[in-house]
Amino acid sequence: MTIKDLMQTMDYGPAPESATEALAWIADRPVIGHFINGRFTAPEGEMAEVVNPATDAVLTRVGLGTVAEVDAAVQAARAAFPKWAALPGHDRARYLYALARHVQKRERFLSVLETLDNGKTIRESRDIDVPLVARHFYHHAGWAELMADEFPGHSALGVCGQIIPWNFPLLMLAWKVAPALAAGNTVVLKPADLTPLTAYAFAEICAEIGLPPGVLNIVNGDGATGALIAGHEGVAKVAFTGSTEVGRVIRRQIAGSGKKLSLELGGKSPFIVFEDADLDAAVEGVVDAIWFNQGEVCCAGSRILVQEGVAPRFFDRLRKRMETLRIGDPLDKTMDVGAVVSRKQLARIHGLLAQAEAEGATLHRAPVQMPAQGAFCAPGFLTGTAPAHTVSQTEIFGPVATTLTFRTPDEAITLANDTRYGLAASVWSQNIDRAIEVAAKVKAGVVWINATNIFDAGAPFGGYRESGYGREGGRAGMREYLAAPARPGKPRPDPAPLSGVAPHAGKADRAGIDVTAKLYIGGKQTRADGGQSYTATGKGGVALGQAALANRKDVRNAVEAAGKASGWGGVTAHNRAQVLYFLAENLSQRAEEFTAALAACGTPKPAEEVAATLRRAFWYAAQADKFDGAVTATKSNHVTLTVNEPFGTMGLIAPDEAPLLGLMSLILPAIAMGNRVVAVASQSHPLIATRLYQVLETSDIPGGVVNLLTGARDELAKTLAEHDDVAALWYCGSASGVAMVETASAGNLKPVWTDQGLTRDWLDPAQGQGREFLHRAVQVKTIWLPYGA
Ligand code: NDP
Repeated sequence: MTIKDLMQTMDYGPAPESATEALAWIADRPVIGHFINGRFTAPEGEMAEVVNPATDAVLTRVGLGTVAEVDAAVQAARAAFPKWAALPGHDRARYLYALARHVQKRERFLSVLETLDNGKTIRESRDIDVPLVARHFYHHAGWAELMADEFPGHSALGVCGQIIPWNFPLLMLAWKVAPALAAGNTVVLKPADLTPLTAYAFAEICAEIGLPPGVLNIVNGDGATGALIAGHEGVAKVAFTGSTEVGRVIRRQIAGSGKKLSLELGGKSPFIVFEDADLDAAVEGVVDAIWFNQGEVCCAGSRILVQEGVAPRFFDRLRKRMETLRIGDPLDKTMDVGAVVSRKQLARIHGLLAQAEAEGATLHRAPVQMPAQGAFCAPGFLTGTAPAHTVSQTEIFGPVATTLTFRTPDEAITLANDTRYGLAASVWSQNIDRAIEVAAKVKAGVVWINATNIFDAGAPFGGYRESGYGREGGRAGMREYLAAPARPGKPRPDPAPLSGVAPHAGKADRAGIDVTAKLYIGGKQTRADGGQSYTATGKGGVALGQAALANRKDVRNAVEAAGKASGWGGVTAHNRAQVLYFLAENLSQRAEEFTAALAACGTPKPAEEVAATLRRAFWYAAQADKFDGAVTATKSNHVTLTVNEPFGTMGLIAPDEAPLLGLMSLILPAIAMGNRVVAVASQSHPLIATRLYQVLETSDIPGGVVNLLTGARDELAKTLAEHDDVAALWYCGSASGVAMVETASAGNLKPVWTDQGLTRDWLDPAQGQGREFLHRAVQVKTIWLPYGA
């Protein structure tokens, strides 16, 4: 062949990366055991084969961690914790820095190992995964250094049980381990049994740099080992990345245990192409969105939404672009697409594609030459998919996107949000107004404008809705591994049975007290659906009156009313602050009345409680336009915004102690941040809440923003915890109630914040007010805006 011939075909020759070093490393390790207390241990239990999915070759075998091995790892991590947590941040920073340096020194080796284990192309493991791993450790070396300055009063949690998936094995390890260690925690980590190699190599780096024994422990294993780690009583925090299904299992498993939990789960992220988009750039975007990493990406742009006018052109260009994709040996540097992680995953993908075709979709596949062996899946996309089709709602987790068309921006947003997930979104438009509007309205934790799948250690990553909660990366990610300053508190008792339950008696007035039993829903005083009331008693068991007994239907009505008040989230922070000030003013005019009512309830410091409620309203009014997001330094030519967005509808379960201040200490931060609330008042002192109705009515709070219910606390809490339209829940009840609501919340995976069944001194601003409340009232959305021609 002459050079002229070559120039005409422009075929790529093979450009294989050498696997000699990595294969020799593997050959020396015929069994991958565990790394416990600084030692590599031979596995005691069963073993699984570790397969190179690109060749079907068995590389080595991995131990599946047993009860005893998990226990040994947790004990080692517990023993190492006090010393590690007590180290000055600077000392921990040096260890993290050393880890980053050593990862960098071994970039090539780790990249090849990852490719052999996972099937991803060397281009990606070398240029994306491993550099991001190093960046993550550098970034978190910084947080370790700055801990005392940036998180005063905060402390490490203890042992973190971390469970990671197979799609970015080393990168997910870094996302979990770096913040945990920076904050002073110790770790027991379980890699996916399909991809244990780079975690093992990382353990060797830890040993090499002299990380103190027990600070990082790795127990290999499958789901059963993962469940042992999550369930171990010595674990203080569980961090999980994987399927939504397993996320739910873990949520239920550890409910009531007091363990902190962060979940990074599945997605069905929209990739929205407007007709004014740079279509060629958007086509390249699809390459990075769904064909990157064989589509095995939780935030993959797997639902392409294209504006109708350009859809045929866009699909044509996509088909053309597919013709140039190369699939094959992932160690070949010229390959675009490698192998999927396993034959099992391949079968799962094929099953979903067959179902899509059976449901009427057309599959367009890249005309690629498929390798003779290995778990390869040709990239492609589906047309003719409808929103209700299984593949439009379920993660394929393979290199195939679904497509839909839309006419208007509003329709695009509706379609984008028509999913139970909310991990990421990608918006393509040359019109900056439109792009930003969509970014604001789409329900997703990460939004890329004219870009996709860009990551940085400083940019928080994580989901809305059933994509999980908690963030990884940046300041928000660090908070997941820190405990707020400890506070004293006594265990709250379970609620006493309701007394005097009776059909609603109307306006019967026994002792000159207004006993009208009503709820406050949608800005109106409403009768309880069941027509029942119960007796509220005060000091010395004196009956003070009847309060409405709300039932499930009332909860549903209140949630619906809150849903309709969605405009509150769009009101300016200044206006929300004004409403809070006005509320304080109206409350202050009735201070004496509230003081007397609190005294009748037998609360210890009624006048102080009213005064503190007023101050609290001012404090949160002040915060409404000051608790800001940030512009985060990430990559060059990118503005990365972190925005504090309201959840939407929140359920708030108020404590019995401090019936006015406790209730308002939950409502004020939630509404200051733009949420609507359904609040359940103190069960034993409900009449304080009913007095608030008039204050709310006169305070310019739009109907539906604050809904108040009275009745059996835990019954109402359970209904709220189970409700799919309640996006977050705060619960101030007993320890058994905490377990109940955490279990019930697993349905739509709403974040639940509890005070672990312990009372607070609500009068003390350090306990009853603060930024912690504000953080819990928002979810962070990260918006990426690349710039430059
Ligand atoms: P899983 O959610 O089952 O696996 C993720 C991790 O959790 C693995 O380490 C797994 O162990 C472990 N695990 C499994 N069951 C439990 C349990 N009960 N308690 C604790 N840990 C557990 O994902 P799969 O590998 O089964 O993949 C299935 C689908 O999940 C994919 O097709 C994809 O749709 C989605 N997925 C999403 C990911 C994401 O990043 N969001 C990542 C991976 C998968 P092991 O694998 O060793 O059995």
